Amino acid sequence: MLFSSLDLDESLTDAVTALGYESPTPIQAQAIPVILAGKDVMAGAQTGTGKTAAFSLPILQQLMQHCDEPRPIRALILTPTRELAQQVFESLVSYALYTQLRVAVAYGGVSINPQVATIEQGVDVLVATPGRLLDHIAKGSVDVGQLQFIVFDEADRMLDLGFKDEINRILKRIPEQRQTLLFSATFDDALFKLSKTLLNNPELIEVSERNAAATQVEQLVYTVDKNRKRELTSFLIGSKNWQQVLIFTRTKQTADALAKEICKDGIKTESIHGDKSQGARERALSEFKQGKVRALVATDVAARGIDIIDLKYVINYELPFVAEDYIHRIGRTGRAGNSGLAISLMSPNEQYLLEAVEKVLNTVLLSQWLPGYEPDLTKQNLKEQRSSKGKQKQQARNKALGIKTGRKRR
Ligand code: AMP
Repeated sequence: MLFSSLDLDESLTDAVTALGYESPTPIQAQAIPVILAGKDVMAGAQTGTGKTAAFSLPILQQLMQHCDEPRPIRALILTPTRELAQQVFESLVSYALYTQLRVAVAYGGVSINPQVATIEQGVDVLVATPGRLLDHIAKGSVDVGQLQFIVFDEADRMLDLGFKDEINRILKRIPEQRQTLLFSATFDDALFKLSKTLLNNPELIEVSERNAAATQVEQLVYTVDKNRKRELTSFLIGSKNWQQVLIFTRTKQTADALAKEICKDGIKTESIHGDKSQGARERALSEFKQGKVRALVATDVAARGIDIIDLKYVINYELPFVAEDYIHRIGRTGRAGNSGLAISLMSPNEQYLLEAVEKVLNTVLLSQWLPGYEPDLTKQNLKEQRSSKGKQKQQARNKALGIKTGRKRR
């Protein structure tokens, strides 16, 4: 299939050709005609499948028909994180390059004034995070009363990050008569519930099985003692001469501490997380993309928008507490058909987190020992025999996370 068969204007097909896209990805082939036909869409697409172009191209196509001054904002793309907002904005700018349409981006963590100045000149499409959008609405710099299109990108993440109230406040201000598109990598009951209030008789599009991890990604799990994870991380990067490795931790503190430690092993490493300024995050990301920094340690939220087309290696230094985050993490590699490797370092007491991941993926992930880094099982047995306090704590956590235990793994 070719882009030319999708009924898109030449200015748009020229733009994607200039970007090196040869043919539409499955989500693009399915979603573009439906969106052009004016229908609401609820799409489940793995990360890195080309979903940005899948919603951007048909929206731009429809907006192109009328570009008269003054320009009210007619399309709004909501994203959960600043990084994703920036990334979607950059994609939109490149897709709209040969059109008269104007695109702007608005997210927090940076001064609002330059955003106000840009928006005041008139923009057709605004990409925004929910909080900063509401700041603009309160300030009077953004009017969403004439919206024709609204896109919820990575909607699952928006709910995870607690943006439900913000979404409801935004919905109250936008016209009921509109086209709504919802894209999400994963679906759960909360999202289906939200979709009922957002969408009108939507077309359901799924290009892969629900909650499937990016298929091009090889997944390995090494069982290793917690206190040897750092050593193993540096060993993997160093011995295999990996040049661009994204490492995930659960907390900001661990991200900072780990980045420092890996640097000491001679591997240039930076960390990114929500406590760092927008400037620091952008700098670290850009140095990582350019290869000036070899490893980037990130928390789940900070890493959400990272799009590096040929990123090959992801290391889960710790398994995530929210199993769906595993899909997002490993989806940072294996993008646009490239292959990738995701290695999870699991300490013996993280086994329940692996089980939760397996449940979401509906797959068994075989854990293995790496020679020289085998877990010290005597230590583990002793720990298990310890006071019942630890067990009670773990049971409470499992309950909170909705994890049923009792199954003995392999
Ligand atoms: P997305 O899922 O929108 O974040 O896109 C993932 C990556 O795939 C981005 O780097 C896009 O530039 C790239 N991409 C999107 N559509 C295509 C296509 N049809 N052919 C080749 N690459 C694409």
